[in-house]
Amino acid sequence: MKRRRFLQWAGGLAIAASSPLRAIAQSDDDPGDIYNRLKQSLDLRFVVAGGSINVAIDGDASPLDKHRIEVWVRRSASAIAAYFGRFSVEHWGLLVTLSDDDHIGPATTWGYPSSITHIALGRNVSDSALHNDWVMVHEMTHLALPSLPQRNAWFMEGNATYVEPIARAQLGQLTPQEVWRWAVDDMPKGQPHDGDKGLDHTHTWGRTYWGGALYWLLAEISIYKNSGGRYRLQDALRAINRESGGNTSFWSVEQTILVGDTAVQGHALGSLYRELKDRPVTVDLHDALKQLGISEVDGAIRFDDRAPLAGLRRSITTLQAPSARSD
Ligand SMILES: [Zn+2]
Repeated sequence: MKRRRFLQWAGGLAIAASSPLRAIAQSDDDPGDIYNRLKQSLDLRFVVAGGSINVAIDGDASPLDKHRIEVWVRRSASAIAAYFGRFSVEHWGLLVTLSDDDHIGPATTWGYPSSITHIALGRNVSDSALHNDWVMVHEMTHLALPSLPQRNAWFMEGNATYVEPIARAQLGQLTPQEVWRWAVDDMPKGQPHDGDKGLDHTHTWGRTYWGGALYWLLAEISIYKNSGGRYRLQDALRAINRESGGNTSFWSVEQTILVGDTAVQGHALGSLYRELKDRPVTVDLHDALKQLGISEVDGAIRFDDRAPLAGLRRSITTLQAPSARSD
């Protein structure tokens, strides 16, 4: 699936994903305005998997608009709840600004003083575009982890980039082939270029989103290997979500990593962080995908079930027990 143009960072940073070399720029949104707007009238209130969701809509919303928005939010929230074992935060406010075009996004998510997201939605967006949207799930992934210092934006953006298609696949909203297509086509964009100083110091689009996603893919593999197949990255992320309560907490990256590594009784997140944060490490993505049994043949994604980590690959896109080990 083709990635759309706009992606946002949970701290309120916004970048245009169409330009791989564009540096991160501040979002135009004033979060104070969004908080104030959400304190006024609400258009929709509902609960999904333990998360109470309050939606305000700016722009004339017909009953059909409201219905479409609720279906879209519920579908996205269900995918996130599948991955994290529950919705990513207890309370979430969403402001939807309607426009007359057919776009979804841009979107921005903040965590203080409460979890909120602002997203633009075109009234003319097709039902199938809403049905297949990834932007909402990406933002909901940001809710699940604590907010971090700006230099670690790659950690959060990479996480949302990595988790979003997997969460949707676990609920059958994407096929495994669609999930791994994204790794084959897009993860190479996360490799370092000349002058790179490591993930904590190189704030380009490619390194922030896909360099971050590479970190989480390597973490997935290491956690599984180091625990003899007992744990997966999902266990670590559920623990981080439970202990932090989501993006209303402001943590250091070290604290976040410690909670995740403790949950899976290992050191993978910390070791990889130390390896990649200050140095331009080119990841052997080809080898990682080969171990998982993923390749592209004649333009199609193919799986090899004899590959050493084929079991991990299958389990990544398989629905897990609601709250395994993490409650
Ligand atoms: Zn983001």
